[in-house]
This record gives sequence, C-alpha cells and structure tokens, in this order.
Amino acid sequence: MDNKDLALYPYTTGASRYVASLDFSLDSLISSRAMDSARARGKERVLQSIEGEIPKPVLSNSDDRKILIELLSYPFSRILVSCIDDPFLTRRYSLAEAVASYRSLKSMDATFLREFSLDFSIHAEVKESGVRIHFTDYIRLASSLKAMEWKLVNRKLDHGYVTVSREELARLLQEGVRHRIEGTLPMQVPEDVCISCQPYIADIMIALNERKSRFESSEFRTVEAGLFPPCITRAISQSQAGVNLAHSMRFAMTSFMLGIGMSVDDILNLFTSSPDFDMEKARYQVEHIAGSSGTSYKPPSCATMQTYGNCYAPDEMCKHISHPLNYYRRRMWFRNRDAANEKEEQPSPTAENVP
Ligand code: SF4
Repeated sequence: MDNKDLALYPYTTGASRYVASLDFSLDSLISSRAMDSARARGKERVLQSIEGEIPKPVLSNSDDRKILIELLSYPFSRILVSCIDDPFLTRRYSLAEAVASYRSLKSMDATFLREFSLDFSIHAEVKESGVRIHFTDYIRLASSLKAMEWKLVNRKLDHGYVTVSREELARLLQEGVRHRIEGTLPMQVPEDVCISCQPYIADIMIALNERKSRFESSEFRTVEAGLFPPCITRAISQSQAGVNLAHSMRFAMTSFMLGIGMSVDDILNLFTSSPDFDMEKARYQVEHIAGSSGTSYKPPSCATMQTYGNCYAPDEMCKHISHPLNYYRRRMWFRNRDAANEKEEQPSPTAENVP
C-alpha cells in the first residue's frame, strides 16, 4: 500500500505503523495549530458517520498535505468517539468507516485485495474467476450477515475453501473493518484530553441527539413509537445502531410496522444503518411483505416470537396480550382514554371493548 492507500484505510496495520513513525505527540494532535485541519476532518468524520456515510476523499500520491490530514484525522475521530463513549455512536461510527471502505474496496485490483485481506489474517486466493477463502475465515466474517445467501450451507465448499466474488470479498472485509474498529472503541482517553476536545464534542453531541430524536419524531409522524411493545422497540434501536437483526426479527418488525400503517419508505429508513443494508433488496422484501405479490403477511404472534427468541423483556402489558399488534392497540386505547380525561365515564378495558 502506498501512502495514499494508508490514508484511505487508516485502521490498517501499515497505516498505524506509518503514523507512529511520524512521531507526532498526542499533545500536538490535540492542541497544535498545525493540526487544525486534521482535527476538523476528524470531527467531520464523526459527524458524517452520524448521518450514515463518510465519503472517502479523492487523493493522489502528490497530495502529501491532504494525505497527512486524512491519516491524522482518524486517530482524532477515535479520540472524540471515545470521549463521548455512547454505544450508539460507537457502532454507527464503526459501521460508517467500514461501509466507506467497502465502497472503495469493490473496485480494487486482485493484488490490493490480497494484501488488504492479509491484514485481516485472510489468505485470499484472488483470481479473475473469483476469490477462494478458507471456510473458517468465511464464517468469522460472514457470521454477522443475516441474509440467507451468506449462510455457509448455501455456499459451495471445495476442500475447505469457499468461492466468493470480489464484491463479496469486499463485503466480508467490511465486516472485518467494522469488528476491528468497534472492538477497539472506546479507548482509554485521559480526562484532560477529553476536556480539551470539548469544542469538537459539543457539535457532535448536538448532531447525535438530533439523530436519536429523529427516530421519535419525523419518521414516526403517523405512529406512536412510545407505544411499541418491548420486542419491536429493541429491534428498532438495534437496527438504528447498526446491529444486524435475525431474518425472523426483520420480518416481525417490518410486518408490525406495516400493520400499524407505516409507509414502505419510512420502514426502509429504519434499516439503512444495518451493516448488510441493500436498498434494492430491502425495498423488494418490504414491498413483498406489504402484499406486492398479492399476499400480504401478518406479523407473528407472541408465541411465534418466543419460539424464535424474538420476545424481549416482556412487560406488564405483555401479560394481557398474545400479539404485538394488540399490545400497540391496547396501549393506544389507554393513551386515548387518558388524553380525553374521561376516566369516570370510560368503561374498563375488557376483551370486548379493547381491540
Ligand atoms: S410478549 Fe409479545 S409483545 Fe411482549 S415483548 Fe414478547 S413478543 Fe413482544
């Protein structure tokens, strides 16, 4: 890898060694005027990750200054994420860095992919016809991908090796990058360093809180997110934080959202943070569940949710219902009753008058 590549993939071993060889002190990264641009870019990385994407800059090997800024912005962004120490931000940041890498890795040549894979202890045989990797490496990287096509049983095994396309290798490497970054965050950052970073942190906190509250407001204008059952609330927050949901939970969440009247576009917005999100496929699947092929699918009952391990932290209300949709309707009923302030006139909820 040349210096330009190290700047584009700053979490690689080569990039860490190169930055160490530059002999910059933590003090100069945090406070030197000469590092203003690196700190600004570091903050920008984190802000971009909150919105979902960190675009890679266009660099050439003669851009020494830009390369240096890009390289040093990475450790600074890690310091910011560590000082904030918010699991949602940590996952989102790691995912955005990994997705940015996937986008550029897809178009890299065989030699580069081979070298990059080695940094993740993967001995990939990259040929024009495809890439062969050992099944243990495949399982290590593909285990967090929930789509059926990534299950080992759906892959051809030849003497312990799995053949994948170059794009699939890039996708697997995305998981490797994500695990590497997420697994090393938060770092132990001295308190005085975090205090010095406050001017950068303040703007990030505003963006982070705004992003979190968007879930509660605009995306749910037509529905009451606060009335969702625990299983669905958890699935949404995991999905928003970049956790890959099990196939059965995605189905339950999607069919539930459709069941309460949410639009296909709003539902797709909830999945955009998933590590294996693919807009085209996701739209097809959501529209299919919504009935585009003539059959619309109902959300699973609580019993089915329990069977698949998708019932999470059932609360008091769960004792009175057997279906997540009824949980929502029942809570809506109570909410409307309280809002109308007609406690005396309202009949007690019974099996007959509660939907
Ligand atoms: S009991 Fe039903 S509604 Fe409640 S958390 Fe479990 S699956 Fe969800």
